[in-house]
Amino acid sequence: MKHSLILLVAVSALACNRKTTDTAVTVIGGPDPSLFAAGAIVGDVTTEPCRLSNRTDTTCYVFTVAGKPPDHDIGPFCPRTITDPADRVGLWIENQQTYDITGKWVTELATFYNDPAWQLYEEATGKVRVTDSKEACEAAARPDVADEYNNYCVECSLDYFDSPPVVTVRIPTTPIKLTTSSPVGRDAKVGVSLSGVVYEPPAPTHAILAAHTIAAFDDCGGHVNPHVGYHYHAATGCSAEHAQTDGHSPLIGYAIDGFGMYARHTGTGAAPTDLDACGGHEDTVRGYHYHVGEPGENQILACHFGATGSVTEGGS
Ligand SMILES: [Zn+2]
Ligand SMILES: [Zn+2]
Repeated sequence: MKHSLILLVAVSALACNRKTTDTAVTVIGGPDPSLFAAGAIVGDVTTEPCRLSNRTDTTCYVFTVAGKPPDHDIGPFCPRTITDPADRVGLWIENQQTYDITGKWVTELATFYNDPAWQLYEEATGKVRVTDSKEACEAAARPDVADEYNNYCVECSLDYFDSPPVVTVRIPTTPIKLTTSSPVGRDAKVGVSLSGVVYEPPAPTHAILAAHTIAAFDDCGGHVNPHVGYHYHAATGCSAEHAQTDGHSPLIGYAIDGFGMYARHTGTGAAPTDLDACGGHEDTVRGYHYHVGEPGENQILACHFGATGSVTEGGS
């Protein structure tokens, strides 16, 4: 009798634990800061006490990212005229696809969106209306686009800012997998690439389109805003990768819960078929990890299955 009571207590304690952590998952290693590309991080990576989203007190790697990738150029974004070809422009994401924002594509927007109010260019000159100043960038590169920038192709340049925004990343040194996932909030971050560029939640394309603007991405799936500088809304294969020796797709970054983020496809083009709702699965080499969404999905990860650290803007 006494023994079964003790057993019952032990089982309930286990059951309680399983509400916050899933002990069944294999955690192999943790983030490896040495895998970030040279120049991706400003200053040192420190290890500091931190509290994760599930209120676990643990240690985190803390570092400041450079706000611009050291390993690829930024842009181009918007076309300047209605004849600009694909190699002089960036991307737009719609209908699970990416589209080159060519001059010709801009002239077809009213048809593309079945809305005659689209007019991103001047009929007489063929010039595309592009935000080309810091003021225009600040007024247009936000979900509530200022009225005067209706019908603009929106782009910002890091040159508008004296120094890139300071973005501090905290990710757990040992990731903790939870039994339930949490969706990536609109103002939260997904993770950080090995090139030190923040992976953002989906771009708010409905708000952007409601203002008849195109917030152009470059071919790397990134663009600039005044808050985090250059950031990604898609992973298109531009940024630093850490190859895997077993045929698995390369590591491209870390989610803010500390789990690795890998390219969608392996070298042979295959994509995993056993991913959970967050794009994660587990294997014996990497433990639990994510595979990022296709560029056209406007969603790098839908959710996190781990207790998350944080990404803060403004040096705090
Ligand atoms: Zn953005
Ligand atoms: Zn995998």
